[in-house]
Amino acid sequence: MAPSEARKRRVTILGSTGSIGTNTLDVIEQLGGREAFEVVAVTGSANIELLASQAKAFSASMAVTADEGRYDELKRALSGTGIAVGAGHGALLEAAAAPSDWVMAAIVGTAGLAPTLAAAVRGADIALANKECLVSAGSLFVEAVTAGGGRLIPVDSEHSAIFQALEDDQRHAVERIVLTASGGPFRTWSRDQMAGVTAAVARAHPNWSMGLKISIGSASMFNKALEMIEAKHLFDVRPDQIEVVVHPQSVIHSMVGYTDGSVLAQLGCPDMRTAIGYALTYPVRSALNVERLDFAKLSRLDFEAPDEVRFPALRLARTALERGGLQGAVMNAAEEIAFHAFVESRIGFLQMADVAELVMDAMTEWNAASSMEDVYAADAEARRRAGEIIAKMEMAA
Ligand code: NAD
Ligand code: MG
Repeated sequence: MAPSEARKRRVTILGSTGSIGTNTLDVIEQLGGREAFEVVAVTGSANIELLASQAKAFSASMAVTADEGRYDELKRALSGTGIAVGAGHGALLEAAAAPSDWVMAAIVGTAGLAPTLAAAVRGADIALANKECLVSAGSLFVEAVTAGGGRLIPVDSEHSAIFQALEDDQRHAVERIVLTASGGPFRTWSRDQMAGVTAAVARAHPNWSMGLKISIGSASMFNKALEMIEAKHLFDVRPDQIEVVVHPQSVIHSMVGYTDGSVLAQLGCPDMRTAIGYALTYPVRSALNVERLDFAKLSRLDFEAPDEVRFPALRLARTALERGGLQGAVMNAAEEIAFHAFVESRIGFLQMADVAELVMDAMTEWNAASSMEDVYAADAEARRRAGEIIAKMEMAA
């Protein structure tokens, strides 16, 4: 077969309108766009204009919005293009299940779990940005990918770094993995200072430009908490092998320490397109137009121990890892509800961790997930309890 006749790599982008999604389409464009890839499906939610323009620009076969009420709007925007249009949860699952080779899982939150699983069970390679899948469903999610026969390739910058620094035949010699954390905008702030901040202040990340939830999660370090649990499931390490170090420049994206004392790190400018590109063409590295590190300008890299008193999310992640069972799903769900309440100014910044801890402590008996139904049940119960706790906090305020 002549190269031009070779089948193009078929890709699906779940959450194409978000920060990771738009960066993914940028990488696809850089690596040949429609000439090199067949975009099977793009999905979004509220931003119909962007979703439609992406579907047209990449000649996607299908465009789906998670928001059922926006069907007509999307249909109108794509009329005459021949692009199939869908809306709602069922359509999202159909988009994920439509045959493709590679799926970018970049929906935010637990909403990404069912569609990503639908892609995993049919054997697609899963480029995982949505860490909530692993935090909630843990080994069940990994088993679903393995059973489907696809590869699980991390996109989270820390986990991509570890994935790159892991020597396949030396897994037995891994002593520890070290997740770097920027420390977020409140790295040097006292708890008193953090108590009164608004979402607008909390979302301003010093190094990375990202979606709202992960930006707030970087300020509270809840994002790092999720990443500790994500790391456990991705790399099959014990909780005591997972370290966090604050590294304000975000140049070292994470590290692997080996039994001979060597530490391998992956470095780069803070730009998600490097990790996305790596996941797209793995194990081959492609040429990407991203900023290069200039070591002379860099001049110094700083490190400090994380403070679990000012950032209790890290302590909660340790607790969840030690307790095991469904505590990851519980922590994730409670935090998602608390995050929404904070963004709506119903609770304060520090109360997000209080909500998560109260719900986790109340649900320690939920300790065996033998199926996805168990995960969804724990998720729903944690959301319900978090809602009750938040309502009480609002009344007390
Ligand atoms: P974002 O908010 O910018 O985009 C989220 C995407 O999900 C959008 O396309 C949106 O339309 C879609 N979406 C939102 N709610 C939905 C729902 N209920 N059902 C279906 N789709 C829905 O988020 P982001 O920053 O791109 O993050 C996406 C995921 O990637 C998150 O899990 C995040 O933790 C992870 N991640 C992001 C970054 C980053 O740099 N942004 C880095 C590492 C990991
Ligand atoms: Mg990360």
